[in-house]
Amino acid sequence: RTVYVNGKYLPEEEAMISVFDRGFLMADGVYEVTTVLDGKLIDFDGHAARLERSLGELDMAAPCDRATLLAIHRELVARNAVTEGLVYLQVTRGAADRDFAYPEGVAPSLVMFTQAKSLIDSKAAKTGMKVISVPDIRWARRDIKTVQLLAPSMAKMAAKAAGADDAWLVEDGQVTEGSSNNAYIVTADGTLVTRDLSNRILHGITRAAVLRFAREAGIKVEERAFTIEEAKVAREAFITSASTFVMPVVEIDGARLGDGAPGPVATRLREIYIEESRKAAV
Ligand code: PMP
Repeated sequence: RTVYVNGKYLPEEEAMISVFDRGFLMADGVYEVTTVLDGKLIDFDGHAARLERSLGELDMAAPCDRATLLAIHRELVARNAVTEGLVYLQVTRGAADRDFAYPEGVAPSLVMFTQAKSLIDSKAAKTGMKVISVPDIRWARRDIKTVQLLAPSMAKMAAKAAGADDAWLVEDGQVTEGSSNNAYIVTADGTLVTRDLSNRILHGITRAAVLRFAREAGIKVEERAFTIEEAKVAREAFITSASTFVMPVVEIDGARLGDGAPGPVATRLREIYIEESRKAAV
């Protein structure tokens, strides 16, 4: 694989980052994952805008402008002949003597790589996922997409140990989001409910698109908090993220939703999302 590190395209074995890089020492870095379909990028501008916001919130310098970032994405996709998969991008504050204060005059590091992966043809999309709930032990700025991902890793491991596919995170009795995705339920009257935007959740790029498509399709949308108890008796549930699109959830903490098969709203939104984002891909 050819990867990108600070201005260079290199074989992955030759790519290097300093042991003093603050991304490595302090998780002082942010990232984005952009999906590739038909060799094109899904919602690049959305991911670039969120990256700029994450950098701004952390007073971190941008490694390059948006046009350059797009060019690097395209070059990596081409060099690695990716037709379906993702591009991972990480910006860290750079290498400096270890200190809690941000260093001055240090150039940020930019690392990018691709991962070829089958995304559209998914077993989970046909059968639906099982999730368990776990306490949300993450920090209070989940709107910033930082590389400190140990809490979601622990949640994912708890899900695996329980024989489930993923975890929904619960804070003050209410679901914030999934370990690496946004969480949704469909209530008995057909209303689509997902957590409102705040510092408590990541502002999903897929979330924004899916809510837009849902409203356009005449589905009633409510952005508000919901409890696990409400979710367990919901008509259906699903998650969204760049690499999973819309993925149905059919079981929550052992409670089966509906007839245990992916629901019509999730199935329809998955189809619309894939079709529309494919059309708009760059
Ligand atoms: N929430 C969390 C905690 C995530 O890690 C992700 C995926 N990075 C998402 C939501 C979904 O965001 P997006 O749709 O932009 O992939």
